[in-house]
Amino acid sequence: MAYESINPFNGKTLKTFEHLNGAQLEASLATAQATFETWKHTSYKERAVIVDKAAALMRAHVDDFAKLATLEMGKRIDEARGEVKFSADILAYYAQHGAEFLAPTKLHPKVGEAHMESSPFGVLFCVEPWNFPFYQLARIAGPHLMAGNTVVVKHAGCVPQCAIAFEKLWIDAGAPKGAYTNLLISHEQSNIVIDDPRIKGVALTGSVAAGRSIAARAGQNLKKSSMELGGSDAFIVLDDADLAKTIPWAVWGRMYNGGQTCCAAKRFIAVESIADKFIDQFKTALSALQPGDPMDENTSHGPLSTEAALVQLLAQVDAAVKGGAKLLMGGKRLDRPGAFMEITILTDIKPGNPAFRDEFFGPVVSFYRVKDEAAAIALANDSDFGLGGSVWTQDVARGKRVATAVDTGMMFINNIDWSDAELPFGGIKDSGYGRELGNMGIQEFVNKKLVRTVQADAPVIG
Ligand code: NAP
Repeated sequence: MAYESINPFNGKTLKTFEHLNGAQLEASLATAQATFETWKHTSYKERAVIVDKAAALMRAHVDDFAKLATLEMGKRIDEARGEVKFSADILAYYAQHGAEFLAPTKLHPKVGEAHMESSPFGVLFCVEPWNFPFYQLARIAGPHLMAGNTVVVKHAGCVPQCAIAFEKLWIDAGAPKGAYTNLLISHEQSNIVIDDPRIKGVALTGSVAAGRSIAARAGQNLKKSSMELGGSDAFIVLDDADLAKTIPWAVWGRMYNGGQTCCAAKRFIAVESIADKFIDQFKTALSALQPGDPMDENTSHGPLSTEAALVQLLAQVDAAVKGGAKLLMGGKRLDRPGAFMEITILTDIKPGNPAFRDEFFGPVVSFYRVKDEAAAIALANDSDFGLGGSVWTQDVARGKRVATAVDTGMMFINNIDWSDAELPFGGIKDSGYGRELGNMGIQEFVNKKLVRTVQADAPVIG
């Protein structure tokens, strides 16, 4: 009984699913490979019809998909609806633009003519997390299916119903069986899949620990991989920030999705002259959020995804306090059923405290005050992670300077880290490598082939 759908709002088990057995897994891989052999010969136009239809079906059934996410991982229902619509937008975007991204590009050699052309790798293995149970799947399925690959996907253990619903979406949209396949498999079976010669590329979104294991396995097999891992993004408040506009984004940046977002604002770094005002107002705004049923639109603070996630976060906060950090608010589980954590603010986190380097995946703010802009940049860069970050200032040129100086894959000025269908997403350092979405994302698992033509009667080189 490996995949368990448990409602984190009340701890009730909704459904359980067994892992595939060996024969079922083999049949899934064989079908994905057989489908690739025909799918790769379809035109972009033919693929786009199916990918666009999947987008339309998601839009037509927003509530059905959204409720599944809320039930299985506690996402607040309005956020869940937003995620489903965004997932549909991603699919529609790649249906429309996939062919442009992958069109042959002309090169200009000194002799003859040359171009680069794109062809799909084959069957891709994608391992995905529960925190955006549909968006994460859309951001691999849209680009990679348009590129002519087929995908087999291992979704997280706590969201099997979302995983199954997304697989059904493709059949309903008219995709051939094997174009998109959900695999209910264990970590050991995941290794078997990575080793399988039919798998030509491996993409993970998940924790650093999973990244180390899966990237190593892909590396042993000389298979290309992309890794979208954790983050501890800085939210840099400069002395000239407009707090009336900044605070609502600080709340959103930390609390969106219950704080369980890779690119959430996690380390709030305020320049001394504005630090007191910022933290007072931020604390007041956070205190106004109301815990409740994530299915209720009035709830502004939902549960964490699982009881295990809550236990881990509480242990991290305890370790931070033992290490010398102070609690400005929160720090405990909420006195109610379900996986609810008090909204927490940690201050006085010094280097050497585990909290200085760890990722807090939930409603926990790490607050730092620094002397000036240069100190803010230095602190932002003193991290093992390098996913994203944001800077808040009324001087956009200054914001751009700071953005350039911070070592991450993405920086945002007066805007919170977020993803768009058309923009690349990904990080550096322990946040991983490669990009998903955008022109870079769709190119991750295609062969970029050089084709050069020179007259045969040209002089032989050397
Ligand atoms: P996780 O434990 O790494 O799980 C993510 C996925 O990897 C799940 O499907 C999980 O399966 C699977 N997995 C984990 N270890 C594995 C292994 N050794 N072999 C095969 N599969 C394995 O991550 P999480 O803690 O649930 O998710 C949150 C993490 O993901 C955070 O660190 C967050 O920052 C990161 N994240 C990153 C991005 C990004 O784009 N950079 C986006 C979202 C989340 P099981 O559930 O069955 O264990």
